[in-house]
Amino acid sequence: MPAHDSHLIDLAKRYWLSVYQPRELVLDHGKGARVWDTQGRDYIDFGAGIAVNALGHQDPDLLAALTTQAHKLWHASNVFYTEPPLRLAEELVNASGFAERVFLCNSGAEANEAAIKLVRKWAAAQGRPPERRVIVTFRGSFHGRTLATVTATAQPKYQEGYEPLPGGFRYLDFNDAPALEAAFAAGDIAAVMLEPVQGEGGVLPAAPGFIARVRELCDAHDALLVLDEIQCGMGRTGTLFAHVQDQVQPDIVTLAKALGCGFPIGAMLAGSKVAQVMQYGAHGTTFGGNPMAAAVARVALAKLASPAVLANVQRQAQALRDGLAAINRELDLFAEVRGRGLMIGAVLAGRCKGKAGSVLDHAAAHGLLLLQAGPDVLRFVPPLTISDTELAEGLARLHAALSRFAAG
Ligand SMILES: *Cc1c(COP(=O)(O)O)cnc(C)c1O
Repeated sequence: MPAHDSHLIDLAKRYWLSVYQPRELVLDHGKGARVWDTQGRDYIDFGAGIAVNALGHQDPDLLAALTTQAHKLWHASNVFYTEPPLRLAEELVNASGFAERVFLCNSGAEANEAAIKLVRKWAAAQGRPPERRVIVTFRGSFHGRTLATVTATAQPKYQEGYEPLPGGFRYLDFNDAPALEAAFAAGDIAAVMLEPVQGEGGVLPAAPGFIARVRELCDAHDALLVLDEIQCGMGRTGTLFAHVQDQVQPDIVTLAKALGCGFPIGAMLAGSKVAQVMQYGAHGTTFGGNPMAAAVARVALAKLASPAVLANVQRQAQALRDGLAAINRELDLFAEVRGRGLMIGAVLAGRCKGKAGSVLDHAAAHGLLLLQAGPDVLRFVPPLTISDTELAEGLARLHAALSRFAAG
């Protein structure tokens, strides 16, 4: 590694809180689904950050929206109106088919934090005492890192050492409808919160019919359905919202990641039951609805909802699955390939179990940026606009990397 890069990486080791362990690569710029490091080596980007850069790098329309707004006004906070967040809220409501109101924030965790607070406020407004405002979440879920959202995240590894955790959460097995039905018998559940496709937990889609059954149970017991589409939303699964494929109307949906395609923004969308619950002063954030973020997100939304992009998701998802199947016929590394649209997980089999990190090392060495979802799953979440050439090249590099990995 050249001295310039190792110096930069030393700065992280000296000055950052040690919560991240990035691959030892210093990335410099990108274009489409390709990224270059400081040495001028190029990589095909099958990770898009973490499912963030859904329009690839340097999308000209995003760039134009950002620079235009940057030359006008950066920030006014929510004590004045600016145009971009007003337009964005209307466009999100119209695109959603269920929402009436929108709260704009800066990240996924903040969107989920708002959702959790909204559930509580709604239950309180119904006269339910605090002990009957339980939110059910599912094992393997990921909902964020703030104290409430990490408590919603039903994975001990994210929670350890942060006790005391806030109360009012209960964990069940994902896709276990009978367990949920039994849990409702306690009469204390105010909401069920889930990812239509679990992301960090291993790229695990909800079973067919599961979310519809959750909706029925929520209706029968006067509870809210909260869908965390922070990773699987914004076109990733082939429809703008993942839940459209589950044919349910949620009460709350959270978005972030690809909503800004790399510019930080999150949103909580609230349906008719909860749209009026929070009134003046009930919640807020300084940067939420920032005009630059909102200007970018308006363009992201319009493009990610377009038939051309959504058709590309279906087509490239098939190409990626075909490519993974071909690799697996030769190398026999995967127990299963699963997911929806361009959110695909390849589960490492037998002798490869637990070795996703090593696969990622080989991938980077072969010019491919790849993600894992836990130690056993390779996660493929490329830009939704990835081209035939970029995808084919990425698959060729993956094949080379996996051949080397399989050779030991
Ligand atoms: C990334 C993610 C979050 C947290 O978003 P941040 O922007 O990192 O706070 C929440 N839920 C899901 C499903 C995610 O993938």
